[in-house]
Amino acid sequence: MTATHEAPATPLTEKVVEAACPQDCPDTCAMLVTVDGAGTATSVVGDPDHPYTDGGLCVKVDNYLDRVHDPGRVLFPMRRTGPKGSGRFERITWDEAVTEIATRFTTPTSTAPRRSCRSTTWAPRAS
Ligand code: SF4
Repeated sequence: MTATHEAPATPLTEKVVEAACPQDCPDTCAMLVTVDGAGTATSVVGDPDHPYTDGGLCVKVDNYLDRVHDPGRVLFPMRRTGPKGSGRFERITWDEAVTEIATRFTTPTSTAPRRSCRSTTWAPRAS
């Protein structure tokens, strides 16, 4: 068995790949991603043939390659180990992450830790 990181026998050439925006957004804009011979994305633009967005991508995706190639990009599941905002996390396995998320989904809300999002204009009723 050979190492998987060896260069391919036939070098890859640059190509443009049709893709859909991976953001959690209902528009699902069509993108054209240029990939170099090493398999690295070098350009992301809107597909001009997309009938709805006509080649446009929104500001959330304008700097997509900067985020994808950022050395600080999170590549593994991380569990927060300190108070929110402390920036303290520990790396966990994918199995641990899936188990933890599944447990939280299946834990009755009456026994789960109370967390809420509330409006800054919300105020409790006077009793
Ligand atoms: S490019 Fe922007 S508007 Fe289009 S699908 Fe992605 S996030 Fe949504």
